[in-house]
Amino acid sequence: MKFSLNTQIFSAVIASLICGMILQQLGVDAALYKQAIFGCDIVGNTFIDLLKMILIPLVFTSITVGVAHLRNHRNRHQVWKVTLLFFLLTSSLAVLLGLGASNFFQLGKGLDIHLFDAELQHFSAKSLTMPDFIRHFFHGLFINPLAAMVHGDILAVVIFALFLGIALVVSAEKSPTLLNLIEELLTIIMLIVNWIMKVAPLGIFALLTKLVATQNIALLSTLAKFIVVVIGTTLFHGLVVLPLILYAITRITPAFFFKGARESLITAFATSSSSATLPVTLRCAEKHLNVDKNIAGFVVSLGATVNMDGTALYEAAAALFIANLTGVELSLLQQTIVFLTAMLAAIGAPGIPSAGMVTMVMVLQSVGLPAEAIAILLPIDRLLDTVRTVVNVEGDMIGSLVVQTLTQPVATAYAPKIK
Ligand code: ASP
Repeated sequence: MKFSLNTQIFSAVIASLICGMILQQLGVDAALYKQAIFGCDIVGNTFIDLLKMILIPLVFTSITVGVAHLRNHRNRHQVWKVTLLFFLLTSSLAVLLGLGASNFFQLGKGLDIHLFDAELQHFSAKSLTMPDFIRHFFHGLFINPLAAMVHGDILAVVIFALFLGIALVVSAEKSPTLLNLIEELLTIIMLIVNWIMKVAPLGIFALLTKLVATQNIALLSTLAKFIVVVIGTTLFHGLVVLPLILYAITRITPAFFFKGARESLITAFATSSSSATLPVTLRCAEKHLNVDKNIAGFVVSLGATVNMDGTALYEAAAALFIANLTGVELSLLQQTIVFLTAMLAAIGAPGIPSAGMVTMVMVLQSVGLPAEAIAILLPIDRLLDTVRTVVNVEGDMIGSLVVQTLTQPVATAYAPKIK
């Protein structure tokens, strides 16, 4: 009997929860625990490595081809504008939700900072001031493309591919060979992505088993309220706000969307990396959600690095949590600064595990909060990163559907094929 990939991935998630909990019960000192975590590390990391192996060639080819083909798109200028507007609008909503939830639930109030002395003792945060962050961000945009590819610097690769794509549009019929070549490469790379997906259930099983087995339950219960509110608000954004926007604009139902997107969402949950998930996200957008591959190549690849609703929401909520914990009352102006820096921090964070924690330092410092306080959040970050990465990736796929609908001529507007 042959099970579909979705069934295999779903079974892997269930099995990993059971195995993870059994390992958690065995305790870190048991020989079986150590062997199992070692095995999970090898298998899980190999899966992530496979995705990362294909990532740079995929981003490069899909954006170049996507942009080059937009020349045939009647509303091509709209595509840029609608994409950026969508990213901006949904990230702002996410930050507002994060701030609102933190204020409403008074996160951090009533907790004593001394509870976290152990975490704070040996931790010194690297400072990241706003000017440093901005300088660093702009300095990282335009890089020798080969160096960017070698270092896996996705945003710089995206930007070079945008340039190349535009140049191919401008030179139009003069350079069909190069475009055909890059297009062929893209087709081959998508074939390899399909092969990698065959081992996805195993990789997801290994990553999630380790995640469940290595959680520090004692710390989780101290921070239970913060964790529940952050996960709840992130899920609200992902299950209510984004699907509502999707439905209002495209008439695509949440059921259709989540059915088509689930491979990618589960991979994001297991890897905590939008970048590593990108090959799967592109595959879902094109194959299951019927997004035109040129639109998907552009919107989803760009979104994986700059559009992070889950991260934006988290940065805002966590900054207010730390303010309350350290007894600092943030004024409206300071909360506005948190709003702006959280947006920037999410744009600047690369799509890798715990990247949000690094840019978080800037958010804290912008309103004079102690950067060291992130030591409290680091031990629970692997857990929270799972959900925010899912919402980050979801935002990219919804973005591609919205852009597709809003930029198509009315007569051929996108009509979902419900399978
Ligand atoms: N892990 C997230 C992502 O890859 C970034 C973050 O740390 O918030 O989308």
